[in-house]
Amino acid sequence: MKYYKLFFCFILLITTANSSKGWGFWGHKKINHMACFTLPPEMIGFYKSHIDFITEHAVDPDNRRYSSKAEPPRHYLDADHYGEHPFDSLPKYWKDAVAKYTEDTLNAYGIVPWYITKMMFSLTEAFKARDVDKILYYSANIGHYIADSHVPLHATENYNGQKTNQVGIHAFWESRIPELYGDDYDFIVGRAQFISNVQMHAWSIIEESASEVDSVLSFEKKLGKTFPSDKKFSFEQVGNKTDKVYSEEYSKAYSDMLDGMVERKVRAAIFNVGSFWYTAWVNAGSPDLDSIGKKEVTEEMKKSLEEEQKQSKILKSREDEGKGEGQK
Ligand SMILES: [Zn+2]
Repeated sequence: MKYYKLFFCFILLITTANSSKGWGFWGHKKINHMACFTLPPEMIGFYKSHIDFITEHAVDPDNRRYSSKAEPPRHYLDADHYGEHPFDSLPKYWKDAVAKYTEDTLNAYGIVPWYITKMMFSLTEAFKARDVDKILYYSANIGHYIADSHVPLHATENYNGQKTNQVGIHAFWESRIPELYGDDYDFIVGRAQFISNVQMHAWSIIEESASEVDSVLSFEKKLGKTFPSDKKFSFEQVGNKTDKVYSEEYSKAYSDMLDGMVERKVRAAIFNVGSFWYTAWVNAGSPDLDSIGKKEVTEEMKKSLEEEQKQSKILKSREDEGKGEGQK
């Protein structure tokens, strides 16, 4: 079965992403949280009032994959499946893409750039209606998909190095490296900017990620060949479990080779999440948010999200029991 790709929360045999520690979700939560601070004065009050919701629900799309078959392809695009120059031939508009490849094929290889555009439509409508529940729901969710688009390994079929004998690299890049060095990242990225063509911008993000796949894989390959093999891994105690992880020495060497790539991508994600939110608000006619800023999420919405979370937990534990950790 196809692995499921997750930004900052991919759990493998070689991993640090332990759900009991909550670390695995660090990246998504941080990106949504910090994106609130990129917003202009007309928006920031509303987002700050609801920053806990925006932060906590940054990870909902990853939890939802257990309860929704439609969810997994929304997080990635296997660009290289479509040939050597996929971005020249892949239709940027969903209808054209379906006509060329069929919906089944598109879903089989990921749909993230198309899905971001769809979510933008919903978010813009939510702003027009000044609907607090929907503004928050779509803001939190689109933040997740935009963040995923910034991960190079979400843009390739070889997403976990399984084709190049580098299994584990997905979690290494997106969990282990930021776990070790994320506290030193600079999360201040400046003011969100208006995006004149949302569709094309969503595509440019995943295209840039695809262009970085080679570095992510080849640097680790090169390092693996020169690094003493007995020093590549270490063991860490997490609760009553022992995890095999990439050693700090190996992680440091890889991070140095990447020359700040993970930090750059986190920063770009924060900036883009804020910019998409801002653009949806502008396109909705810049509605007044101050007067709805103190409004709470409705009980109905809370209940439905709690129910979704409960279902996901049950299905996740069944899946873990059935297949063992690391198989999705
Ligand atoms: Zn994801």
